[in-house]
Amino acid sequence: MIQKRFTSKLVGAAAIASTLALFSCTSKTLMPDNGAHVLMNQVAFYPEGDKILVLDSAYTGEVEFRDMNNELAYVSEVAEVKQSPFSGAPRYIVDFSGLDIEGKYQVVAGDMRQTLEVKSGALRDVAKAALKAFYYQRSGVEIEAKYAGKWARPLGHPDTNVMVHPTAATKERPAGTIISSPFGWYDAGDYNKYIVNSAYSIGIMLQMYETIPEYFEKFDVDIPETGNGVPDLLDEIYFNLKWMATMQDTDGGLYHKLTTPNFEAFIMPSECKQQRYVVQKSVTASYDYAACMAMVARIYAKYDLYAEFAKEMLESAKKAYKWAKANPTALYFQGKNNEKYDPDVVTGEYGDFNASDEQLWAATELYISTGDESYWKDTKTLWPKSYGLSSWGNVASIAQWELISKDNFVSTDEAFEHRKYFNDYIETLEAKFAQSDFACAYGAVAKDFHWGCLSEGCCNAGAEILRAYKKTGLPKYRTMAVSNADYILGRNPMRNCYVTGFGYKSTKNPHQRLSHADGIEDPLPGFLAGGPNPGKQDGLTYPCDYPDMCYLDDMNSYASNEIAINWNASLVAFLACLDDVMSNLEQY
Ligand code: CA
Repeated sequence: MIQKRFTSKLVGAAAIASTLALFSCTSKTLMPDNGAHVLMNQVAFYPEGDKILVLDSAYTGEVEFRDMNNELAYVSEVAEVKQSPFSGAPRYIVDFSGLDIEGKYQVVAGDMRQTLEVKSGALRDVAKAALKAFYYQRSGVEIEAKYAGKWARPLGHPDTNVMVHPTAATKERPAGTIISSPFGWYDAGDYNKYIVNSAYSIGIMLQMYETIPEYFEKFDVDIPETGNGVPDLLDEIYFNLKWMATMQDTDGGLYHKLTTPNFEAFIMPSECKQQRYVVQKSVTASYDYAACMAMVARIYAKYDLYAEFAKEMLESAKKAYKWAKANPTALYFQGKNNEKYDPDVVTGEYGDFNASDEQLWAATELYISTGDESYWKDTKTLWPKSYGLSSWGNVASIAQWELISKDNFVSTDEAFEHRKYFNDYIETLEAKFAQSDFACAYGAVAKDFHWGCLSEGCCNAGAEILRAYKKTGLPKYRTMAVSNADYILGRNPMRNCYVTGFGYKSTKNPHQRLSHADGIEDPLPGFLAGGPNPGKQDGLTYPCDYPDMCYLDDMNSYASNEIAINWNASLVAFLACLDDVMSNLEQY
């Protein structure tokens, strides 16, 4: 925590006369921004929220905040100097939380200057863009100019002519059988569609939806379904659900993915010609699907438009669960399959050695939606002994949070135990916050940086912190949650806003076929980049080896600069919840 605020002060109307003499600016014009050393949220700050910026160039003295008329509005100073745990570089931390009047300002620290904005609903536009990004990922439909502007594109991947791969052959559907499996989202920078990641992405967004349904009632993002009486979040998710339902084989099992044998080149969807296949049914895909559809069954039932679908999906979820339970060893190992079957498939594997967390999640959601004790019996043997962040390959904490928060469970001994695990986990984040050189609850230890870390680490932790805040009302958690959002939006050593289309220095060249092949200079907006990744699995030369700077804004950098639906799902869940909290402080 930054405690020192000894000289920060708002320069109110009454004080202006005296300060004008001190700051005798004759010009009303601001000097141009040159904020190479000002590291901060580049989008906007909530009036009532914590506001921190970090200078990475030595500075002492006052830090001024001037309005657009170059009038002094607020004064602060460096409150604390910390060091990067990786490079040792000094960080000059400036707290200007007291600047709580909406408006645009320029921060002036000696020669360094940069524009910032304070406004209510500060991060709502980014949160909405993060959901709108899923519209851009839609396959099998035309992306219309009415909704996509310059990013409109013709239909690609109709997926009405998908072949059953030999790994998925049954008596009823021998290899080469043609099925129709249209729609759904492209998974990431590639054009394939994967059940495991789809179910996970939807799971974390629906879990957030269930905690703040009123917030999402007003969360319109301008998609074809906007205005149909159903929240856009649920409409957009439905576009993928209707594809997922086609991935269930007649015996109840789920094809692991719908894919070309090899990744397509960086061409537009309408130019893609490779045959697409559904491959081996897997236990992980089937459990994840069961969990996701069990949630869908109770959430979508409230809307006439989707009530019938919701009912069907409950039966479908039960069938998938039954199949998975009967096929516990049906894990998906691509290499092994390629030794035995043709054509070889070398696209994203979503391989997972352990399906017990997937079963736990499925059994938990099915119990919540049906009340059937047999599912509860299954969960009892599967609870982990700690709490941690979820990811596509480890979904246990989604189930744990249901246990902690849902009426079906909250009074059980198990829920009590897992509440303790949750608290222990939050304490680890507090420790990180205390040692951070960016006054953030993320980014102070090398372990925070890995493939997809900004989503799986920073956003997911941010969402957990907000859960802690809502449970306790302790302001420190609000401070921490805001800090994680700020990290993603520019308060980081790369001074980069990692969400495309936002901020003055942001990710421009994501590893995303759609963004590259469309010939439009600006990337599709609202996508979160994977982020710094010292693993550098793409083999490229990065500018720097420090864990928090292993980032390359290069189309070829799939290890640090890809986009993905699960990463954007984390961003949607985190920012929507943060915006709800910051916009309704009297409630929280
Ligand atoms: Ca797993």
